[in-house]
Amino acid sequence: MRRWNGWGEETVDFPLPNPAGAFLQDLLGPGVQVRDASLEEAVSRVPSSRLPGHPLVSTSPVERLRHSAGQSFPDWVALRSGTVPAYPDGVAYPLTGEDVREILDYAGSTGAQVIPYGGGTSVVGHLSVPSGDQPVLTVDMGRMNGLVHMDGKDGLATFQAGVRGPDLEAALMAVGFTLGHYPQSFEFSTLGGWVATRSSGQFSMGYGRIERLFVGGTMETPAGGMELPCFPASAAGPDLREFVLGSEGRFGIITHATVRVTPLPEEESVHAAFFPGEDQGIAAVRELAQASLPLVMVRLSLARETVTNLALAGESRAINLLKRWLAFRGVGEGMCMLLYGAAGSRKKVRWVLRRALEVVKQHRGVAVGSRPGWEWYKHRFRIPYLRNTLWEAGYAVDTLETATTWNRLPETVEAVEGALRNGLGERGEKVHAFTHLSHVYPHGSSIYTTYLFRVAPDHGETLRRWRVLKGAASEAIVRRGGTISHQHGVGVDHLSYLETEKGPLGMEMIRSLCRTLDPGGMMNPGKLLR
Ligand SMILES: Cc1cc2nc3c(=O)[nH]c(=O)nc-3n(C[C@H](O)[C@H](O)[C@H](O)COP(=O)(O)OP(=O)(O)OC[C@H]3O[C@@H](n4cnc5c(N)ncnc54)[C@H](O)[C@@H]3O)c2cc1C
Repeated sequence: MRRWNGWGEETVDFPLPNPAGAFLQDLLGPGVQVRDASLEEAVSRVPSSRLPGHPLVSTSPVERLRHSAGQSFPDWVALRSGTVPAYPDGVAYPLTGEDVREILDYAGSTGAQVIPYGGGTSVVGHLSVPSGDQPVLTVDMGRMNGLVHMDGKDGLATFQAGVRGPDLEAALMAVGFTLGHYPQSFEFSTLGGWVATRSSGQFSMGYGRIERLFVGGTMETPAGGMELPCFPASAAGPDLREFVLGSEGRFGIITHATVRVTPLPEEESVHAAFFPGEDQGIAAVRELAQASLPLVMVRLSLARETVTNLALAGESRAINLLKRWLAFRGVGEGMCMLLYGAAGSRKKVRWVLRRALEVVKQHRGVAVGSRPGWEWYKHRFRIPYLRNTLWEAGYAVDTLETATTWNRLPETVEAVEGALRNGLGERGEKVHAFTHLSHVYPHGSSIYTTYLFRVAPDHGETLRRWRVLKGAASEAIVRRGGTISHQHGVGVDHLSYLETEKGPLGMEMIRSLCRTLDPGGMMNPGKLLR
């Protein structure tokens, strides 16, 4: 069973290694444990549903509670405290595209607002329920999870849009293919959710972000159904797929998606190297991106993240030996860890890694082989479980991200980390912030920052601390010309920064699309547009 107020399966834990607890205490002070609401308490607060009965719609209070939030920080605090601002009045579970049409018609006739729900992993408030007089219907796509059509010759696969990462990959693996899309939320997030949020996966450097993988599909909108044919390329005016990508449930419900798939690689390999400092590391990943080497991933942990990762890994003999070996090679304080990966035939993987190593060495990087890469690979979908552990130890953790050009990168990292680190100074609280670059492009890179701070004795104050930090970091991003999101999307948390990026005319274009596809304004209100 999935946790109702945290990340992941109830049976899975990610305990903190011993030295990591002491490391956090030194940085932030002792953790502050608070009492969280029980499931029974939280369910008892769910009001009666305002929706009339329908065979595809559940009005069970537990289902409605479980669909009342995603995984953003405000969502997390709402569920932990058991005080959710608003609940859907019902949760619909369609099995087919026709069911989705019927549900939209039902919502129209009952005056309900509709929230499409994929895996519920949004971290920016895409799923938050509007309060008001209108009933709200969440449409959980989780039962629309089948492979509809696979064409190995064309390299195209069509799925129902509610398919989750592991089921999608299992269906493709059975016929010798992969999509190669691995967001860290892979365990629960869905194909429809990836398209609707313009998601990016850990191997997107090789396989492409979801916008490169999404070839066509079907979207049911309040104004009617919309088919997006799968052309290899087309010059027939604007590409309508672009209006579906990043639509955040605002224009309709994606029922089917066709994606470009690749034969399973013979080998996947992730290697590691350490640089003496950030300048050398950044110069190396820029060169790797600009050399167009067919790597599937490049992930550079900047200095603070490298120290944190090594501390969280515990003081094992292997890590102590590694540190001594690196010190001997002139890599000590200020070092940065790089992971770089390749996939394909054995011959190709060996060639790509060899070429990448040449670049690493030119920038004074010291290669340490595949063991750290393998450790990361093994745990890559387990790391989010640390959020549960940290909360229970009295520490809050959140992440934020942007992308910017190489020229602006160092000052943007400094500004974001600085805004976070100093953000709670007036409250006498410390913040630990650290960054990696995980998606590199010829002209720039994503910046992904994690920050930790102490939970306050009451949930309301914890949320206020987060608001101060999120606001300061978002301002820092926008002021330096970064995008408000490289991969998480807009939701409600980034909404007030969107116009700076799109401009008034751009916002009006989005609004007019909304008016065309959803004239009654019933789809996911408050997301993308006010
Ligand atoms: C631990 C963790 C790690 C993460 N790592 C990554 C990462 O590596 N890369 C990344 O890009 N993101 C990441 N995310 C963010 C999140 O997983 C992505 O935004 C993901 O694409 C959301 O998919 P979902 O199926 O869970 O959608 P949901 O969260 O359910 O919904 C997100 C939005 O999409 C809309 N939507 C969902 N399905 C449909 C549909 N069928 N039709 C129309 N609209 C729909 C919803 O209305 C909502 O607006 C992470 C989140 C967590 C919690």
